[in-house]
Parts: sequence; structure tokens; C-alpha cells
Amino acid sequence: MTEKKECKKVLPGEAVATAEEYMAGFGTYEHDGVIYSSAIGNLELDEKNKMARLDFENPPMAVAVGDKVFCEVKDVRASMVGCDIFAIEGSKRGVTGETDATIHVSKISSKYVEDASMEYRKTDLLRGEVIQARPSIQLTTAGPLYGVVMARCKICREPLERQHGSKLFCPKCERTEYRKVADDYRDVKF
Ligand SMILES: [Zn+2]
Repeated sequence: MTEKKECKKVLPGEAVATAEEYMAGFGTYEHDGVIYSSAIGNLELDEKNKMARLDFENPPMAVAVGDKVFCEVKDVRASMVGCDIFAIEGSKRGVTGETDATIHVSKISSKYVEDASMEYRKTDLLRGEVIQARPSIQLTTAGPLYGVVMARCKICREPLERQHGSKLFCPKCERTEYRKVADDYRDVKF
């Protein structure tokens, strides 16, 4: 028997094989009998081991405890903030696996926060630190390094300017909003 390998570049969510023919290996997952790619990479269909897997030039990483991550706020309730991690700070690699993260209201700031919606709003971009990676990702934003790095005006969507402390200002609407702001607000390159 000869070993045959195919290689082609695939995108996340692309159907790459059927589960009848192959097992889902590194960088792929099975759903309803179909194997999908979970990242950008080169697909390898390993005939010998009947394994579909991705080969990465810059392998994406799963987040780990202690990572500083950038995320977008998706959902804000009084007791918690739901966000989606899009980058690990200091890493050019993408994020693989789970990217949904939660910030409990008690972990927003070192000061007491009664209601998470007083500090964060949907579409804010923030930096947090991973305090739990499994089974769910939990972040903290307590400390001056953490918090919102880019927020937009609720009315006109223009990026808000930082005035001082937690006070942000929209020059177009001449409105003030408040956030738990990171030290380097609007000075971050993703
Ligand atoms: Zn505005």
C-alpha cells in the first residue's frame, strides 16, 4: 500500500472530508458525519492513517491562563460581560478552539462594580487576562493595563476620545461616556 498525501489550503469551517473516510485530526472537527477545518492551514489527508489534519505555518494557539487577550464585547448583562477573543497579545498566531470568554462583574475592576453595563458596552474592544481557560474562558480586567482599548460613541459610532480617568468624549455629539479604560486606550496595534 502506498502512502498518499494531499495538500491544499483551507479556511475555517470548510468541509474537508467525510467521517466515513477519515478521522478528524489536528485542526479539524467532526459534525454530523462531515469533517471541517477549524482554522486556516494546509489540509493533509493521510491515507495511511485515515486521518484528516491541518498543517500550520503559524499554528494558531488555544488561550492559556495568564495570556493577555484582545476581545470584542458581544453581550453585557448586569452580572457579566460576554466577549469574543480575536487575538493574543504579543502573538502573530490566530486563536484556535474556544474564543467565547466571560468577565464576571466582580472581575471588571479592582474597585467595586455594581452593574457591568456601567463599565462596558457592546462592540467595545478590550484587553483582558485569562484567569481560567477550561472548561470555559474567564477573564479579568482589574488593573491599569486592562479594560477598553477602543470604544465607539453609542450614537454616531465615532471612536471616543479619552479625557481623563474613565471619561470618554465624542467630539461630534459632544457627549460623555464612561468605561473601565486601559492605560493605553487607543494606542494599541492589533
Ligand atoms: Zn458621537
